[in-house]
Amino acid sequence: MAKGEKMKILKKILVGFVLLFSSLTLMNSICDGDDEPGDPDAGLYHTYDEVQSELDSLAAAHESIADFTSIGKSLQGRDLWAIKISDNVQSDEDEKVGVLLGAHHAREWISVEVPLKIACYLLDNYDAQAQIKNLIDQTEIWIVPMVNPDGHHYSVTSDRLWRKNRRNNGDGSYGVDLNRNYSYQWGGPGSSGDTFSETYRGPEPFSEPETRACRDFLTNIEPSALISYHSYSQLVLFPWGYTNSPAPDKTLMESLAKTMADKIKAVHGVTYTPDQASGLYLASGDTNDWLYALLRVPSYTIELRPRSSYPGFVLPESEIQPTFEENLPAALFLLEWMISLDTSSQ
Ligand SMILES: [Zn+2]
Repeated sequence: MAKGEKMKILKKILVGFVLLFSSLTLMNSICDGDDEPGDPDAGLYHTYDEVQSELDSLAAAHESIADFTSIGKSLQGRDLWAIKISDNVQSDEDEKVGVLLGAHHAREWISVEVPLKIACYLLDNYDAQAQIKNLIDQTEIWIVPMVNPDGHHYSVTSDRLWRKNRRNNGDGSYGVDLNRNYSYQWGGPGSSGDTFSETYRGPEPFSEPETRACRDFLTNIEPSALISYHSYSQLVLFPWGYTNSPAPDKTLMESLAKTMADKIKAVHGVTYTPDQASGLYLASGDTNDWLYALLRVPSYTIELRPRSSYPGFVLPESEIQPTFEENLPAALFLLEWMISLDTSSQ
């Protein structure tokens, strides 16, 4: 073999190794999920401890544009971890605020992954993409991937299909449905006074530390748009949920929801249906009605994959990444829409 030929082969081998190692590094990047068995373990889904360490590492790796913080504590003392993403992240600038929430409901594990991966994507692409840099520079984005850490932990360790938080109701039943515990129209249709019910609304509005933490946090930062991720059904839902009557800003919220659904479909061809929340079923005391009633800003629930009860809440790990991928442009669209508010008001 000629010397030049040998060098070519060696070069090819070398390039092969470099590619292999760089792809291994990518696989271990904090954005790609942790497949190392933890205790407890949820496979490629994140446990509470893993969310905590991912957000911590993520903020440390991007400290000029990310801040890792807690918005309050759960009933059992776990932090409701949040990451704030913005330029001049340590100061409260005069910029529109957008919020992404996950896992009000414990068993809806995919609802943790989507906002968490969006946080990773935003931070990892700040330098590479002018669109992302512009968004981060002009807005303040808050991401809270796990609003119900006690329930999620219980879902990982004891009962995969657990929904509520872990309140001891004192009668042998456990849990309050955090997404029926907000104060606006609390106690109305689609919530239950029965402590054993999956939709038990609690003894009074904001009886739970998790919803009080969300209330205080959201009241303080006054978002201009919010998405609360849930699963399953593939829907983009907007207020009202407690009544079939249209909300005053239905036209705007429906139009934004339709665009988000179009953007989702454009990625993998998966249909998410835009609708008023009450079109699914009436639900009172949820996050979106409360925030919309308070601030009159677009406030969405996105019900993620799958469409139907099989596989329902137990979405295969192979669908985590595509579910994130299709939801990314929808979230970016809503967050960028906030910037247009600034221009139109000037
Ligand atoms: Zn839910």
